[in-house]
Amino acid sequence: MTDERLVVANDMVVSLDYTLRLDDDEVVDSSEGNDPLEYLQGHGQIIPGLEQALNGMAVDEEKQVEVAPAEGYGEEDPDGFQLVEKSIFPEDMRLEIGMALRMRDSEGQPMVAHVAELRPDGVLLDFNHPLAGETLFFQVKIAGLRKATEEELAHGHVHGDHDHH
Ligand code: ZN
Repeated sequence: MTDERLVVANDMVVSLDYTLRLDDDEVVDSSEGNDPLEYLQGHGQIIPGLEQALNGMAVDEEKQVEVAPAEGYGEEDPDGFQLVEKSIFPEDMRLEIGMALRMRDSEGQPMVAHVAELRPDGVLLDFNHPLAGETLFFQVKIAGLRKATEEELAHGHVHGDHDHH
C-alpha cells in the first residue's frame, strides 16, 4: 500500500464486486461468492455505461449504477432474428424456448443464438445479446485498484498470477 490515493482511471486495473439486476429485480449476474471481476479501465472490457460511471471511484467505495440499453448491450436488433428449418438440428435434440445454442456464422465464427419461438415452419433464432434492450441496474463496490503493467497495457487486458501470455 502507498499513501497515494488511487481512483479508477484509464489504464488502472480494477477489482470490482458487482451485482447486476434487471428492472424486475431479477439478479442476472453477480461476483458474490466469487473473486471480484478484474479488468483494465478504459479499454472497452466492460460495457461503456458502467466503465464511465466507475471513473473516479476509490477503493471500498460503493455505488448504484443505472445503465440504459444504448450504453449497455445495445437495443434489440429486429434483424437479429432468423428463421431456420428444424431439420438443421439433430433429431433427438429437444428444443426449448430460451435455450442457448452454439452456432457458427457463414464465415465459421462461433456465435450464440437463443431459441425465440418454435413455429410450425421452423425455429426462430435470436442472435441478439440476451441483455439487449434491457436497462441494467448495477450495485458495485471497488474491491481493489492498481496501476497496470506495461505488458498489460500493450495487451489491453489484465494478467493474473498464473496466466502470462
Ligand atoms: Zn496478455
